[in-house]
Amino acid sequence: MTLELMRARKIAVLGSRAVGKSSMTIQFVENHFADTYYPTIENTFHKLVRYRNQDYDAEIIDTAGQDEYSILNSKHAIGIHGYVLVYSIASRQSFEMCHVVRDKILNYTGIDWVPIVLVGNKADLSNQRQVPTEEATRVAIEWNCAFIESSAKHNQNIGKIFELVLGEIEKQGLDSEPPRTSGCLLM
Ligand code: GDP
Ligand code: MG
Repeated sequence: MTLELMRARKIAVLGSRAVGKSSMTIQFVENHFADTYYPTIENTFHKLVRYRNQDYDAEIIDTAGQDEYSILNSKHAIGIHGYVLVYSIASRQSFEMCHVVRDKILNYTGIDWVPIVLVGNKADLSNQRQVPTEEATRVAIEWNCAFIESSAKHNQNIGKIFELVLGEIEKQGLDSEPPRTSGCLLM
């Protein structure tokens, strides 16, 4: 396997605090459930992923989390190929936050479609569910994005999240270049 044949893909994991962004990233990259993870830190991880006969060097930015008032960090929009937008199925507020964050991404990039996977995490907490699967499915159809429910705790559908985001990125038909942002040419 040579580096030249590998496609570098930058993926940002966004969403409210405590929805499981770090847990799913660590479950994916390091194959364990980290129960005591520092909540406010941002980390970047790398993983080599083989998907549909293609090798990818996935760079995953596990962000500290967003709220209504946070301004989208340019680091989380420029040069990013795809987004994982995470909520907890047990928190309607975190689901609403995905709408806010998506609007911020589209505003920032100035384009009307970016590769997104909407993720309803903590699917194991079904007795505390506040967001019906059907509702999130409808939103994903409206957004023309992928959707999946997962559990970082039980390692359920975690690998699938990152396959879906690679698939969404491929829909753009680009080879390796991230989309340009409006008014800013990336050299
Ligand atoms: P982040 O702030 O979005 O990065 O969230 P963390 O990954 O730090 O997780 C926040 C809390 O939710 C921690 O106590 C995790 O153990 C817990 N958690 C994360 N994923 C899951 C999950 O799939 N199921 C359950 N039940 N708890 C989870
Ligand atoms: Mg975190």
